[in-house]
Amino acid sequence: MTSTVYFGTARQSRLEARETLPAKLDLILEKLQIRERVKDEMVIIKMHTGNNIGYSTIHPVFVRRVVQAVKDGGGKPFIADVNWDVSGAETRGYTHETLGCPIYPAAGPDEKYFYEYEKTFKNIKKWKLAGMVKDATFLINFSHVKGHPSCGFGAAFKNLALGCMAGETRGEMHDSMHFDQYWFPEKCSNIETIRMIAAACPFEAIVEDKKNPGQMHLHMEQCNQCGRCLQVAPEGSLKIDAANFHAFQEACAISTSITLSTFHPKKVTHLSLATHMTPVCDCFGFTSMPILPDVGIFGSDDIIAIERAVLDSTAGMKLIEENLPLVMEVHTRQGHPFQQLHGPLKDPYMVTEYGEKLGLGSRDYELVDVLPLEKVEHAALPYIPAK
Ligand code: SF4
Repeated sequence: MTSTVYFGTARQSRLEARETLPAKLDLILEKLQIRERVKDEMVIIKMHTGNNIGYSTIHPVFVRRVVQAVKDGGGKPFIADVNWDVSGAETRGYTHETLGCPIYPAAGPDEKYFYEYEKTFKNIKKWKLAGMVKDATFLINFSHVKGHPSCGFGAAFKNLALGCMAGETRGEMHDSMHFDQYWFPEKCSNIETIRMIAAACPFEAIVEDKKNPGQMHLHMEQCNQCGRCLQVAPEGSLKIDAANFHAFQEACAISTSITLSTFHPKKVTHLSLATHMTPVCDCFGFTSMPILPDVGIFGSDDIIAIERAVLDSTAGMKLIEENLPLVMEVHTRQGHPFQQLHGPLKDPYMVTEYGEKLGLGSRDYELVDVLPLEKVEHAALPYIPAK
């Protein structure tokens, strides 16, 4: 089945407000028939409210328009995010007054309001779905597109996968990257060699496991799979393996499927804003320079289709390498730009592959531009400098 993804480009033909992204969001909300679908619904707008002094999360101008559309349609909107982002959200411009509806910590102020779902995946046995997510009857998944150190990039899946689970499950999802064995101490028991392996990593991704002498710990988020550590590690002692990196993406797909299973399929929609795409996640609490040009805004009822549309639209772009923080290194120009940034094993498409296997949507999509650029004719006469 082919799904529809509505799209508004960040570019303008003319210097007119109607050609800018908030106006294109309005067109997308019309196409998705939000007003017609939300009457009497308790509508959760799941977004990332950022952290600390980050300023590249979705601007209140956009959120307010979604809130207004829900209110116009007779729905009861509220914003939800994890507690440590909601607390302090007002310092980044997110308040009831600016957005037009309340903002709640999804699993309560102490992360204790959740519903458990049993499903074994690597180290995870129970998934703690945030109570405010379960209480809602309609979901608007409004994500900001950016890079992510665990899986290359974060958008529609990541916004639900982590943001709709209580803290314990979020921690376990990150830990799933360590479930498959990657360090084989019987092949290297010499502490000096372990220290040499750690020292070979320019990103301090490898540390001695202080609690377990002779063991090491690999911070997967910091690893861009450059392979330098493997050049000094005794053969067979260390694996830099796809299984560890892909585990997080599969966990994200499972988590998202649990969240989506609590809503009627017609009572879910997704919006993704691909502007000011930073190298790492919004939860880092700061905003770095953009690593890709702004693309625009997307909307679809199909999470796989919208995620792939975002990825496809950025796939052919060149990383703005001069904007990268100096500690980051691009050691390959192969694959998606987010992969070039975070390493070949952090393929951003993987989460959609796992999601597709769980029946969450379709990779086939039709991209409908809600306001295509108009051709602008420039003057035929040559430029003559004014005197
Ligand atoms: S592959 Fe490179 S980045 Fe990853 S741990 Fe080894 S040295 Fe560090």
